[in-house]
Amino acid sequence: MAISAIDETHDPKRQSWVGSANGHADFPLQNLPFGVFSPPGNYVPDAKARGGMAIGDKIFDIKAALAAGLFSDEAAIAARAASGGSLNPLMALGAGPRVALRRQVFDLLATDGKNAAKARDLATAILHDADVCAMHVPAKVMSFTDFFAGIHHATNGGRRRNPNDPLGPNYKYVPVAYHSRASSLQVSGQPIRRPSGQRKLPEENAPSYGPCRKLDYELEVAIWLGPGNRQGEPIPISEAADHIVGLGFVNDWSARDIQQWESAPLGPFLGKSFGSTVSPWIVTMEALAPFRVAQPARPGGDPRPLPYLWDEADQKAGAFAIELEAFILTEKMRASGQAPHRMSHSNTLDLYWTIAQMVAHQTCNGCNIEPGDLFGTGTISGPTPEGWGSLSELSRDGQQSNPLSSGETRTFLEDGDEAVFRAHARRDGYVSIGFGECRGRVVAG
Ligand code: CA
Repeated sequence: MAISAIDETHDPKRQSWVGSANGHADFPLQNLPFGVFSPPGNYVPDAKARGGMAIGDKIFDIKAALAAGLFSDEAAIAARAASGGSLNPLMALGAGPRVALRRQVFDLLATDGKNAAKARDLATAILHDADVCAMHVPAKVMSFTDFFAGIHHATNGGRRRNPNDPLGPNYKYVPVAYHSRASSLQVSGQPIRRPSGQRKLPEENAPSYGPCRKLDYELEVAIWLGPGNRQGEPIPISEAADHIVGLGFVNDWSARDIQQWESAPLGPFLGKSFGSTVSPWIVTMEALAPFRVAQPARPGGDPRPLPYLWDEADQKAGAFAIELEAFILTEKMRASGQAPHRMSHSNTLDLYWTIAQMVAHQTCNGCNIEPGDLFGTGTISGPTPEGWGSLSELSRDGQQSNPLSSGETRTFLEDGDEAVFRAHARRDGYVSIGFGECRGRVVAG
């Protein structure tokens, strides 16, 4: 399996001449995530969307750097592919050119880089202040699959339906998923409109149509896919890494009342498809290389996965230790300048399946994936209430209200509430990196 190697771009001693990058919680020199942004039109003549990389509180403009002749060889090919309004062409190239681009950008932005002087001379042309740029969904997503690999979330949800067998007979054999809606993906910062739909509470005799009364967020990691497979040709788990570009967030907003009424027997539909929010930055597999860990051992008694889902190398290094946090910022907190209230903290080690297992499973029937496809991991909850990554879990489906730091309480989301996700990967001997934020504010329907 082509797992990314540790190289000079992970050296913790290297620093950037972009001062804000050094010690930055999310975007130090060692991260360099990809995204699509528009510079502000008032000082850049061509404000069209193009690919960039986050560095501290700046965005490195790949197109401008390419035009200035800062790239060579494979990195120039990757830079050209990343110069348009979506990253699909870059994703289609696979790891080789992407890694070459990462290494050249690292060299350009490192204080002691061989070509750093050239880049510094061009700083005003190739760097933008991130806070005045507009971010976009980083790829044109044709297919969005949402898995259900957070075993504690699956257990919490299943317990309400069947207390004696919350996971059901298939969970430990099948990486369960459903096809979600790609057309309604939006990027962090865009508001989410409270959906209306058909819902029926258990105590009601008949359904009615109206605004969702149980609006929820779901804390999930996004998996961005690269080169696809030919239809009919499954991707073996040993080759899955060649098809994965990187990770980010997806907030799989959920209208629980609509979902609960519509889901039997075919699963989520309108309770999910009104919108999903992704974070703008794709943290690459290369940046995440130091944070790979063994997949936690399956609890005793759990079945061994079928052979197409089992790979020793994947079990040894196919998981990630990424700390996740979900917050709510209410209208009241915003008005009084308070910080968001942390609702939960969990870890990607709470996933029952690795991302390579998800790729192998998605394609095992011959289904083809395409560059820019998106997977959600499923809600990542920890084993205890401090780690529960959705309000349906924290409120026991609305039965229990949760106190907030502002003195307010919540069962489900109210209009004006903003869900905020953050993630960080840390390991001794390496520079910590983060995903940046994934934010979305609920507005009245
Ligand atoms: Ca979900």
